[in-house]
Formats: sequence, structure tokens, C-alpha cells
Amino acid sequence: MTSQERIERRRKQVEDAAREFGKLVARQAFEEGVGLDVDLATIEDLAAIAARQVVRGVVEQAASEQAETLGDEHPCPACGRVGRLEHRSRPIQVRGGEANLVEPVAHCSACRRDFFPSASGAEG
Ligand SMILES: [Zn+2]
Repeated sequence: MTSQERIERRRKQVEDAAREFGKLVARQAFEEGVGLDVDLATIEDLAAIAARQVVRGVVEQAASEQAETLGDEHPCPACGRVGRLEHRSRPIQVRGGEANLVEPVAHCSACRRDFFPSASGAEG
């Protein structure tokens, strides 16, 4: 299987899971059943609200898992001294709204700087 095929397979799995999740949301939103007084625009509005929260949930969960893979300590990119990682939360803009991004940060007392190791290797 090529990497392109794996990406396609994963995309299909995500779409299927999201569609099933949408059905759950619909049952949750209309616990007593969808009355005939509920129009399609109202249903679509609820779906759009749910979709924004799905984006937020996926971003927050995946970023949190990445942060956990870094462990509790990380060497300073400038001097190599190992610093203790703490986790800070900050709001970021995502498609359709805002998410709280938990990101690891450490302070190097020797260099007097904060650094932000990431699972992707980019450091600030
Ligand atoms: Zn340092």
C-alpha cells in the first residue's frame, strides 16, 4: 500500500466515523424525536455548530497527545541543559472557531529563555 493509499484509507475512515458521530449528535439534539415543526435550516444550523466543535475536539485531543509524547523533561536547544516541561494552554484559531492548545514549555535558567519543544521538531 502506498502512502497515498494509506492517506485515502484514513480519510475514508475519518469520514465514516464523523458521519456516524453526526447521527449520534442528531439523536442527542432531538431526544424526543424531530418534530415536524423543526425546519431543515434549523437542523443544518445545529449540524454546523457540531462540526465546529468536532474540529476543536480533534485539534485539542491530537495536540494534547503530541505534547504527552515529549515526556517531562527536554534539553535546551541552545545549551543542552535539561529543563522540566510544563504545559500551558492558549487559545488558537482553528477552522470554524477557537481551540485551547496545550503546549509544552520549559525555561532554561542558564540561557534565561523559554523554549517550546514540539513533536514536529520545531522549537521557538
Ligand atoms: Zn539553555
